[in-house]
Amino acid sequence: MKPHRRFALGRPSLGGLAAVGLLLAACSGNPEPLPTVPAPDGPDALEPGAMPEPGMEYRSTDDRASVDVLHYDLDVDLTGLADSQFVARATLDLRAAPRSEYLDLDFVGLEADSVRIGGARVPFAQGPHLLRVRPEGGFEERTSVEVFYAGTPRDGLFIGPDPGGHPTAFVDNWPNRARWWFPSNDHPPDKATVEFRVRAPDGYTVIANGRLLGNQDGVWRWRTDVEIPAYTMVIGVAPFERAELGRAACGEAPRAADSECAVVSVWALTGGGEYGERRFSRAPDMLDFYSEMFGPYPYEKLAHVQSSTRFGGMENSSAIFYAMGGWAEESMGESVIAHETVHQWFGDHVTPEVWSHLWVSEGFATYFAAVYFGERDGPEAFRQAMDGGRRSIIGSDASNRPVVDERPDLFGLLNSNSYPKGAWILHMLRSMLGDEAFFGAIRAYYAEHAGGSAGTEDVRRAMELAWGGEDLGWFFEQWAYSPGFPRLDVSTRVVDGAMLVTIEQVQSAEWPTFRLPLEIELRAADGRTERREIWMEGRREMLRVPWTAGEYELHVDPDGDLLLEVVGGS
Ligand SMILES: [Zn+2]
Repeated sequence: MKPHRRFALGRPSLGGLAAVGLLLAACSGNPEPLPTVPAPDGPDALEPGAMPEPGMEYRSTDDRASVDVLHYDLDVDLTGLADSQFVARATLDLRAAPRSEYLDLDFVGLEADSVRIGGARVPFAQGPHLLRVRPEGGFEERTSVEVFYAGTPRDGLFIGPDPGGHPTAFVDNWPNRARWWFPSNDHPPDKATVEFRVRAPDGYTVIANGRLLGNQDGVWRWRTDVEIPAYTMVIGVAPFERAELGRAACGEAPRAADSECAVVSVWALTGGGEYGERRFSRAPDMLDFYSEMFGPYPYEKLAHVQSSTRFGGMENSSAIFYAMGGWAEESMGESVIAHETVHQWFGDHVTPEVWSHLWVSEGFATYFAAVYFGERDGPEAFRQAMDGGRRSIIGSDASNRPVVDERPDLFGLLNSNSYPKGAWILHMLRSMLGDEAFFGAIRAYYAEHAGGSAGTEDVRRAMELAWGGEDLGWFFEQWAYSPGFPRLDVSTRVVDGAMLVTIEQVQSAEWPTFRLPLEIELRAADGRTERREIWMEGRREMLRVPWTAGEYELHVDPDGDLLLEVVGGS
């Protein structure tokens, strides 16, 4: 997503319960071994306690490993939208570790009315951040669990007015707020297919992930057969103004309705339709551009949706949500569209295996958005985007932490490390490997991890393979696992017909000494230039360039290949 300065507020909970009478469905998933013992949650998981903070993660990755959700059926009744009424049934088709006594699901802020397995009620308990289902006799390895609940979600699903004053409902899950409106294994690598059956008020339309299966008696059915992470499972319920923008990724969209081209559409709120069509006019071209660059578009369609997301844009799989305000004020930038489109491949279909490696999502989206504008609008557009990123890294406190960051507050990861520094990591790899090897590595990385999840080491392996097996451990160690960037103090003096260039890394001692393929260029007033490349290995290097041309300009890294700051110069 792209962060946004406006943050939505949670809403107080209401009571009320009714059944949603719709049929169940289940689907198969890929079997992979689960740990044989359910992971302990700690003795206090069910004790009353403070409501979890959205964006804080309380369970460890290992805690979740004993469950694998294969499919969610989410039946939602929003006919009481005007009164903030939400009634739901979630059916989870899942695999649990054999002989598990209980199953823990993330579920926050709403009270379950009943939990059923095979139609029969089973005992359950709720703690502040989870729902524990404990059927007598334990779990079969493959189980379908139904949870009935109602109320007003305090987060995740937001009910509020559109610019025309009509009540709407929009989901905004990133990073771990799906659990505030449906019980889930709310964890990026546990991907699943999902089907939504949403009962909406008369005159309303529903958008969601995947393909529209139909709309009967006010119930909209959407389904994706591509496994997606819970944080991108969304619905939007509003009186939309909808337009088709075109068909794209033709021949590269195997999941599209006609298995050929993906339909790209725009879904605007009251009064936003005309602007939406104009602003998103290049959206089909972006899908063409990226499917050619990365590989097949993974989803059934791509809808660009005006919503109430707290972010500037949120990359929900095949249904990207954008902030309401910028769209309504007709002040949206175009880079957010490219950024969220890249995420369909990187973030959504190749998902960070853990949040601490978020740059494999956000750095990719930031970088390849710049690549699109560089290709379509000229190199200066690319250069401006990268320079802007460099400035924000240089000016950010986040530079004192590594890009791969184990911090517990996930919203804190929305910083200059995950975004522009991640983009700069990719750009520096491209500069070192060359275009052919770099883009080959990107395609290979995508092909290998499509539908799954990946992290920094997977990027490293793909780049090493493309670079003839060359070790890049040092590169990722300094750029991804260590804080900071090189600050270079460069000084020159002319001695006996030569220019003596001294380059010193003067960044703080807590930051690493960077290994850099550094270029230096001397430009004389008469246009003559001398370029030298050195592998800078230590804190101080000296370089001798034959020089008799008098006045000169010195340029460090003249092509802008490196993330660095030049702090001195004489
Ligand atoms: Zn993003």
